[in-house]
Amino acid sequence: METGRIVRRGILGLALLTATALLFIDPGTGGHIQGAGAALVDSAYSKTNLGASTLNGDSLLEEEVLLPMVRLLAVEPGDTLAQILIDEGAEAGEAHAAIGALRKMFNPRDLRSGQQIEVTFQPTPDGLGGARFMGLSFEPDYARKIDLTRGENGGFSVTESQKPLSHEIVRAEGRIDSSLYDAAIKAGIGHNVLSTMVRVLSYDVDFQRDIQEGDSFQVFYERWTDEKGNAVKDGDIYYLSMTLSGKPLHYYRFKAADGLVDYFNDKGESVKKALLRTPADGARITSKFGSRRHPILGYSRMHKGIDFGLPHGAPIQAAGDGVVEMAGVNKGYGNYLRIRHGNGFSTAYAHLSGFAKGVRAGKRVSQGQVVGYVGSTGLSTGPHLHYEVMVNNSQVNPLSIKMPSGRKLAGKELDIFHQARRETERKMADAAVLGKMAAAQ
Ligand SMILES: [Zn+2]
Repeated sequence: METGRIVRRGILGLALLTATALLFIDPGTGGHIQGAGAALVDSAYSKTNLGASTLNGDSLLEEEVLLPMVRLLAVEPGDTLAQILIDEGAEAGEAHAAIGALRKMFNPRDLRSGQQIEVTFQPTPDGLGGARFMGLSFEPDYARKIDLTRGENGGFSVTESQKPLSHEIVRAEGRIDSSLYDAAIKAGIGHNVLSTMVRVLSYDVDFQRDIQEGDSFQVFYERWTDEKGNAVKDGDIYYLSMTLSGKPLHYYRFKAADGLVDYFNDKGESVKKALLRTPADGARITSKFGSRRHPILGYSRMHKGIDFGLPHGAPIQAAGDGVVEMAGVNKGYGNYLRIRHGNGFSTAYAHLSGFAKGVRAGKRVSQGQVVGYVGSTGLSTGPHLHYEVMVNNSQVNPLSIKMPSGRKLAGKELDIFHQARRETERKMADAAVLGKMAAAQ
C-alpha cells in the first residue's frame, strides 16, 4: 500500500533518510557532542562511558534524535494539496490548517500539474513509525519560493521569498544545417525567443521555400538567469538578422511615437505587411495555385488558392486586419470564411471544421487572430486549409503577389529610429555571444 502510493505520486527524491543518531555527551571533552560515528570508532571508550553511566546517570545523556524526513513530490493531474498531504501521512485537521495558512500567500488551486513540492515530516519518538507534518516548500514560478513551516506553538506560518535573478543582454547566432528550429536550439535560444523570431521573419521569409543550408541568423535579446546561471525567462528581442543565400535582412525593435512597438528594417520600414504569408502555424503547402486535376471531380480545373496540410482542428489566423464578409457554408468550400482587408484585398479560408467564437459576418478581426479551425467540410479528401487571396474579387496567386507594405517611418521619427538602431548595434558589439560566454569569462 505504502509503496503503491509512492509510485503513483512519483517521489522525486529523498533528501534525508530517517536517521537515528545516537549522540553522546562526553564528560571528558567538556560536554562536546560527538556523533554516532565517533562513538563507534572509539568503541572501547564508549563502553567505558556506558559503564560509568550505570554509576551516575547524569554523567552520560544517551538520546535518540530523529531527523526530519524531507520528500520531493510532483503534483499529478487531479491532485489537491490537501489530499497530497493526507496521503503522505498528515492528519486531515493539520492538512487543512496548513492550507489555511498557505492561502495568505498562494491559492492551492493554482498548483500546476508537475509542480514539485518538498514536504517535511518529523518522525514521532514513540518508535511506532508515525510522523508529524512539519511544513512544505515549493517554487510556484521561476522567481518565487514559498515556505510553510510549523512554529513552536504548533501553528503554521508562511513566507514568500523572491529568488535573485540576473538580467543580461545576449547575442546568439547560428548557421542553418537542417532547419531554423534545430539551429536556434543548438545556439541556446529558448522557445519564446524562437517563436518571436519566426513571427517577425514570417512576413518576409517563406520557411518552406526560402531557407537553404548555410543560411545564418543572429539575434540580440534580453533574458534573466537564476543563481545557477540557468535562463529562466526571456525578454524582448532588440535586433534580429537573417542571411538568406548571402542576402542579409535586418530587423530592429523600435517603439514609435504613438507607443506601438514594432520591428523595422534598416530603412525604417515596418516588417509587418498587410497580410501574413501563411495563415496558420507550421503549415506546409500541399497544393499550389494554378491548373490541376481536381482530386474529387477528376478533371482539370483551375485551383484558385493554395492548400496547406494541417491536422484537423489546427487554428487558422486572420491573414490581416479586416472585417468578416462571410462565415458559413459555401457549396464545395464547406465551412467558408472571407475577410475584407482594404486596398481591394480579401482572403478566404475553406473546408473549416468550425469558426472561432464570435467570428461572423460584420465582425472586425485583427491580423493573427484565430478565426477558425482546420477541417474537411465540402469537397475535400481530408483535413487541410484551402486559402485564397483576392484582389478586387478575383483570386491571385498568394505566393507571387507583392504584399501591400505596412508603415514607414519618416521625418523626425526616422531620425530617432536611426539613432536607436546605432545604439542597438553598439550594445550588440559588446554583448557576450551565447555558447561562447563560458570561454570569454
Ligand atoms: Zn484547395
